[in-house]
Amino acid sequence: MSDRNVRVICRIRPMNEKELKSGGRCCVSVAPPQTVSVVAANERASADDRTFIFDRAFSENSTQQELFEVAAKPVVDSVLEGFNGTVFAYGQTSSGKTHTMEGVADDTELRGIIPRMVQHVFDVVGAADKHIQYTLKVSIFEIYMEKVRDLLTAATSGIPDIRISEEGKGKGIVLKGLSEHAVATGEEVWALMVRGRENRSVAVTNMNAHSSRSHMLFCLTVHKRDIREFKSSVGKLYLVDLAGSERVQKSGAEGTTLDEAKKINLSLLTLGNVINALTDASSRHVPYRDSKLTRVLQDSLGGNAKTTLIITASPSTYNEAETLSTLRFGQRAR
Ligand code: ADP
Ligand code: MG
Repeated sequence: MSDRNVRVICRIRPMNEKELKSGGRCCVSVAPPQTVSVVAANERASADDRTFIFDRAFSENSTQQELFEVAAKPVVDSVLEGFNGTVFAYGQTSSGKTHTMEGVADDTELRGIIPRMVQHVFDVVGAADKHIQYTLKVSIFEIYMEKVRDLLTAATSGIPDIRISEEGKGKGIVLKGLSEHAVATGEEVWALMVRGRENRSVAVTNMNAHSSRSHMLFCLTVHKRDIREFKSSVGKLYLVDLAGSERVQKSGAEGTTLDEAKKINLSLLTLGNVINALTDASSRHVPYRDSKLTRVLQDSLGGNAKTTLIITASPSTYNEAETLSTLRFGQRAR
């Protein structure tokens, strides 16, 4: 199973204060290593359509290190060898996407996938033979309302939409006008993350609401050169904190405009369709062009690229419907 290029990993977070206070019970049970079940609220519902099997299932007791090891490290290692790869976090708002991807950067326990990935990459680069040279570059951007916005340029508003183009056969997707930043240390990467986060919040009135409506993409490009053999390779790694997967009705209640909700739904639906087409051997058409997100990721999803979809969910009865819909999305992607 682990040799498949698309893997789906589920992470259930602990109950939060709000859920406990509102009287929610826990309705999700994890049976490691692969099974997650949602306990039926009414006895008439069959258990069959409430039991899900993933490549790995993590309970509320999972650690950030485990998630990195299982979900991200195989992808990062293949990027260091010159392949492309993508790790997504998918789930409703406050299910643990950002906790999983970023976590608490200055806490060794709570650091998430991005800081661990950065550490790992610099460990590998630092331990490499003298004749192997690495050049690392970082871009950070978001996709909001089907527009790409660079989060590392000085100007934060009124920038034209970044254009997506395909550079001839085999050359991959290029984002015209997107800034790239050479990095030599983990601290430099983290400074860029902080800058990206600041820029992200500049043009918006409510950062929490905004972050649940836009996709945030972190891209690390690794150029590896063997100076003795004149051999070189390029690998591109995307770490993607997706927009909240909650449905239109609910988002509407929290002030999302219908247009925003439609665009979020379109890109998440398309992502599901693309992953589904990649995992379904009988499918010939992969609908990358149906959304900006999948278009941007076209050369990092499918083919030789390794992909991990991490789905995150709440264990509370309070969020049961959203949790079921997230688990179904993950199941369908496998
Ligand atoms: P999202 O990005 O999906 O909206 P967050 O990652 O911001 O959600 O998580 C919401 C809250 O729950 C945060 O305070 C976060 O620290 C906490 N949280 C999420 N997942 C976990 C987890 N696995 N363990 C402990 N706390 C978590
Ligand atoms: Mg978040």
